[in-house]
Amino acid sequence: MADLVEFDGEALVGAPTVRLSRRALITGMAAGTVFPFISSCTTNPATGSNQLILFGDAEVASMAASAWTDMKAQTPTVSNSRLKNRVLNVWSRTSNGAVKAGHIDPNANWDVAVFDTDDVNAFVMPGNRVGVYRGITELTENDDQLSSVLGHETGHVVGRHAAERLSVSTASQVGLMAGQIAIAQSDQLSRYGNEIAALGGAAMQFGVVLPYSRRHELEADRLGVDYMHNAGYDVTQSVRLWELMDANSKGQRPPEFMSTHPDPARRAQQLRTYINAKGYALM
Ligand SMILES: [Zn+2]
Repeated sequence: MADLVEFDGEALVGAPTVRLSRRALITGMAAGTVFPFISSCTTNPATGSNQLILFGDAEVASMAASAWTDMKAQTPTVSNSRLKNRVLNVWSRTSNGAVKAGHIDPNANWDVAVFDTDDVNAFVMPGNRVGVYRGITELTENDDQLSSVLGHETGHVVGRHAAERLSVSTASQVGLMAGQIAIAQSDQLSRYGNEIAALGGAAMQFGVVLPYSRRHELEADRLGVDYMHNAGYDVTQSVRLWELMDANSKGQRPPEFMSTHPDPARRAQQLRTYINAKGYALM
């Protein structure tokens, strides 16, 4: 699952790509378990978005389990307990902001790993797994900015973006194989039509994941700011974070977190507008 990390630059939240064999698909379709696209559109209570969700949370979490185990086995984690405590504290406070919003279960257990590499990146994976790289903690100037990163990742969890992406990817595989998916006729799928067409069936089968859509990013940004606000962090620092990302990308290799989060300046502007509209701050 090397492609995990490219995911959102956040490992898309670890999009576990499901590769269904042709046989499994045909069997599934015959059994009526693999083709319920239309009936599987649900409205996410936190975001209000209609989503195609073909897999239960537990199912998606178990799909991600081995990718998470591999990642932890292959990537060193920090031994600096001060840094680790900082990340854990900011995580705990920020995720509590999501608890206050009623968006996550207060009793959920989270596995938070702080990886000891220069990557400017963070990600979430289904099953309450959070990965943060030392590199992104060093880019942030304060805990408020780190909270902005973690709040954004929590937003991807609440938005069920991994399950949606996985569902859309699976649906497209089924459709490509069965030759009967009407991408253009489905709101859900038409959003991804270009990506699906660009990737093609073969790429899908080799586990290429879809990038987070612009809608997912926007949702995650907004929820992240809500959680920061609930947690008592300075929400204006979320704007500053994207300005830093922008500055950091000039001249050298862009930070990974940015590679799938294009146009940081525009993003900063959208965050500013949202913060003003919500009355969290005037900026
Ligand atoms: Zn994101």
